[in-house]
Amino acid sequence: MPQQPEVPLDGLYGDLVMDHYRHPHNRALISEADIEAEEFNPFCGDRAALQIKLDGQGKVCNVSARSEGCSIIQAATSMLSDMLPGKSLCELTAIAERFRASMYNGTGDDTEGLGDLLALQVVRRYPVRIKCALLPLVALEEGIKAYHSKAG
Ligand code: ZN
Repeated sequence: MPQQPEVPLDGLYGDLVMDHYRHPHNRALISEADIEAEEFNPFCGDRAALQIKLDGQGKVCNVSARSEGCSIIQAATSMLSDMLPGKSLCELTAIAERFRASMYNGTGDDTEGLGDLLALQVVRRYPVRIKCALLPLVALEEGIKAYHSKAG
């Protein structure tokens, strides 16, 4: 396995990443999820699995987010899971786009709706690790896509 550069996790953002890594949120499995998606990155053995339950209005009412691998994927999965409840799939797609753009281009002033995900800006200086931060996002997007094609 190729050597992955270590991302120094100190400072305000680093502390937040470590906090989610040590105490990941929303790990309990859901029994009847509307959306289920899993992504794997063989490059560093990262895995992210999401389950989403929608309410009658099409908004997220329950989330399960589980991951294994490096600290970045585990923190990113937990942070993303906190963003989902109460949002429609359209809103989630918009957040996903904004988060991906922020990882490649920086946020500028456009930080709306990113919450703790902003802390992953510490990863930006290590381009190969950006994949780790974005893996749960890819799972989310694939899950939404599959849900739409199933719903027609
Ligand atoms: Zn990783």
